[in-house]
Amino acid sequence: MNALLPTSFADLLALYQDPMFWLFPMGTLAVSTVMFLLFALPFTWLAWRDPVSLRRYKVQDTPFDVARWFWPSLGRLTLNVSLIVVALLLAWPLLRHAPIHLGEMPAWYVAVAQILFFVFLDDFLYYWMHRTMHKGFLLRHVHSVHHRIRHTTAINGNYMHWFEYLCTASLALLGPMLVGAHLYVLWIWIALRQFEAADGHCGYVLPWNPGHLLPLYEGAGYHDFHHSQYQGNYAGFLPYLDRFFGSYARGYLAWRAKFRGEPGTPE
Ligand SMILES: [Zn+2]
Ligand SMILES: [Zn+2]
Repeated sequence: MNALLPTSFADLLALYQDPMFWLFPMGTLAVSTVMFLLFALPFTWLAWRDPVSLRRYKVQDTPFDVARWFWPSLGRLTLNVSLIVVALLLAWPLLRHAPIHLGEMPAWYVAVAQILFFVFLDDFLYYWMHRTMHKGFLLRHVHSVHHRIRHTTAINGNYMHWFEYLCTASLALLGPMLVGAHLYVLWIWIALRQFEAADGHCGYVLPWNPGHLLPLYEGAGYHDFHHSQYQGNYAGFLPYLDRFFGSYARGYLAWRAKFRGEPGTPE
């Protein structure tokens, strides 16, 4: 059983009775899905109601199209999660050697430092993956699925091709694997990542949104412009990468300056 891969069918079956199989891959997928829905459903309900009092906080002036994309978004999420379950079942004989653990919790400041590292690493890698997906075959056959929706609501955050979902999930796991994270730290990070997926698509920049507490995060307007303009604003959390690599979406800086009440900012 200590071999890299099991050597008999009985050994293989025994691997799936390991509590860590249910806690690490399956538990993390459950945390990911539940947290996404917890973040996304209230925002989606808000967009469906589209109250007049909140319209000044909308990024786009046009009406939301919640009715058209709600069930397809839940359908895609169900399909993608089901495929990940199969992938995790197949990968577990190797994945069980991953350094994710349930031992002693790290000190709080170590956990915070690890999560910050996950944010920056994931965001950097996501930026380049996303830019790559905006070209050729990957754009036509994979990423264009996510871009069918130009005026998004939170539930559309995981409306994507299964291959993109698999790549995005793998990127998010990379940081925790590198540092050998505690399982609970991994779960906190995944919850934060799903907050980003829901909030980035919610269509509102609300003043009471707790996302404003996150340093460097610029809220839903940033990714909303990626959908409305189809190009630019490629990062997940942190727009500094677009500033550095000159890839802001058309009109985003002017909108941000106006929204913040700043003097005109050049494109
Ligand atoms: Zn895109
Ligand atoms: Zn998106």
